[in-house]
Amino acid sequence: MSCIFCRIVAGEVPAEVVAREPEVVAFLDVQPLADGHVLVVPRAHVAQLEDLEPAAADALFRAVVHLAGPVREALGAAGTTIGVNNGEATGQTVPHVHVHIVPRWPGDGAGSIHTIFPRRTKRTLPDVGAAIRARLE
Ligand code: 5GP
Ligand code: ZN
Repeated sequence: MSCIFCRIVAGEVPAEVVAREPEVVAFLDVQPLADGHVLVVPRAHVAQLEDLEPAAADALFRAVVHLAGPVREALGAAGTTIGVNNGEATGQTVPHVHVHIVPRWPGDGAGSIHTIFPRRTKRTLPDVGAAIRARLE
């Protein structure tokens, strides 16, 4: 088993685990962006979000919802930024789905999700909307 998160889930590699559930494990990021930076992972090895089985997806998002308040309160934070790097092109470095929960404080120097994008759009909203709806049919 070469996946580092599979090894953490299996207990083979130590991690500061904060929650263990039947389908999900949550532990502290070893290189935290802020105190209380938690990673929530499905137990099953899946590289990208869209490959999750429905039950695993349900369990993952439920765990994120369950953890968001306690993580924020434990750190005395004002909010949390919650995000997923989904695919290598996005900066995902560990190919096992993980949701980042990062506590936030006013004036902490970090931006919103909007600040990571240079906003180089080329297409109209109706064009893009139609393309996505066609894929969903
Ligand atoms: P990504 O860039 O793939 O969204 O984030 C991967 C995260 O996993 C990084 O923030 C990194 O610090 C964290 N990470 C990588 N290896 C380990 C590890 O062995 N243990 C823990 N706890 N976190 C890790
Ligand atoms: Zn894995």
